[in-house]
Amino acid sequence: MSEVTVKCEVALTAEPRFVSVQSYIADVDDRYVATYKGKEVDGNMSTIEVLREDHKLIAEHIGEESFAEDSTQGLTTDPFASAHTALPQELIAKFDCLGLRFDGDILVIGAPKTNWPKIEEYAKSVKLKIKLIDAGEHEIREAISLTQTIARSKNNSFDIEVSEVGEAPISALVQQIVERAVLERASDIHFEPYKEDLLVRVRIDGRLRLLVSLPSRLAPAVTSRIKVLSQMNIVERRRPQDGQFSTTVGDRHIDIRVASVTTVHGEKIVLRLHDARKQSVSLEELGMSGLQLEQFSRMIRATNGLILVAGPTGSGKTTTLHSGIKAVSVSWKNVVTIEDPVEYVVPGITQIPIIDPANAGFAVQLRAVLRQDPDIILVGETRDAETARISVQAALTGHLVFSSIHATDSVGAVYRLLQMDIEPHLVASSLRGVVSQRLIRRNCRFCATSYKTTAAEAKTLEAFGLKAATLVRGAGCTLCGGSGFRDRIATYQILEMTEALSDLIVSRPEPNEFRKYAADSGMTTMDHEAVRLAAEGITSLDEALTLMVSSE
Ligand SMILES: [Zn+2]
Repeated sequence: MSEVTVKCEVALTAEPRFVSVQSYIADVDDRYVATYKGKEVDGNMSTIEVLREDHKLIAEHIGEESFAEDSTQGLTTDPFASAHTALPQELIAKFDCLGLRFDGDILVIGAPKTNWPKIEEYAKSVKLKIKLIDAGEHEIREAISLTQTIARSKNNSFDIEVSEVGEAPISALVQQIVERAVLERASDIHFEPYKEDLLVRVRIDGRLRLLVSLPSRLAPAVTSRIKVLSQMNIVERRRPQDGQFSTTVGDRHIDIRVASVTTVHGEKIVLRLHDARKQSVSLEELGMSGLQLEQFSRMIRATNGLILVAGPTGSGKTTTLHSGIKAVSVSWKNVVTIEDPVEYVVPGITQIPIIDPANAGFAVQLRAVLRQDPDIILVGETRDAETARISVQAALTGHLVFSSIHATDSVGAVYRLLQMDIEPHLVASSLRGVVSQRLIRRNCRFCATSYKTTAAEAKTLEAFGLKAATLVRGAGCTLCGGSGFRDRIATYQILEMTEALSDLIVSRPEPNEFRKYAADSGMTTMDHEAVRLAAEGITSLDEALTLMVSSE
């Protein structure tokens, strides 16, 4: 398959950027779509409308009518195919190496460092210009199996007649989709029925991307297959249902939670993938700035008090909480967590899942835990006033309590407690600090390229008191699915309580007054941290700017 490259005007960056079709599709949901070949795309269009519009434009551009349909066949779209096939299979298998992309006439290859001499020897013998990038064996092997999955699906026609839709091809199709999603590091798979297609989209690093568009006549069979796997009632098509199943991809065990709802075009099914291999990270790996790390360490090393982590769902709060717990857990302390669900299984600590939220929710479990002589308690989420009150009491009576709370920023979390009718003086005396956070996509290290900071970008950096002669962005490669990003990192805002701030809470000032006071005493904003990560080359400046939240 030939690589298709289209030129599109990218909003907010001065130069036109060449993007592969796949990365272009990945960008469809955000502002890159704002202008395309000078054409305004209505911001109110649904993703599917935008996609269709987009494909039409790409098709016009390359003068190929058929492309409009072909390109939605995401499973067969692999803009980096020419890079993988540039190396012989034997070499790939023997030295765990994979062609990631072409940089001009240079083939960029990812491989473990120990195998570099052999690969260089080969390149020299066939006069191939190469650039090697260090990659872990595991990482590369998964990428190799991903390219093989894509290559296999290329030969697999989904043009199956309804009459011949047997179980076998549909099971294989569902398995292939799950496999591909896992290898692409997806967290969710959406099966969305529309009039003409069953769209399969996957969420990777927080964003949905089209994986494949199947003809709608396959929808009932695909839906039934998933419902059978997850032990749902296949006859029931009107009520929402949920279920689960697990599968293995390579050496990974994946637990999958399934939920269905009925839409105007049939049942929509969403699969949430949970990788049992997920490991908690150390404090240093969280990505906090030096000062923030110091503040957070101080907060969690207290013997008692309340530590809150705030942010929207899916902002990495659980990771931060578990890193904190891990850092202060010692064998002679009783560490207990109450979680919904338990995401990280940690040996040596007592973990309680919320199984029956109606009768045994956080508050009930927390009261029971307090009768079991705890030292450190993690309350997965402070959702209600009762849980908040018990947590504060526990923090005041010699326990170290960690919890998450829904609030847009750190100061917002303090006011959330006050709204839950916790007396200001109790908040002041129990709260050690609040971490609020958002996730931001990291530049893919396999295709990250640095470039000279433009005047406009320098101005943006300057507004945050930052400077960088060069910035970094991803060019797009096999390992990031062409997006230029791979994995995410959090940006934080840390409010460390001081005596002065505690005194201020008691007088219950306006949130903005409190915010200003906290900023004056050194609290930075998440926006600032995002731009700092861009200045340090960890993310792109564009990505940092999309995160911008109004903290006013
Ligand atoms: Zn990449």
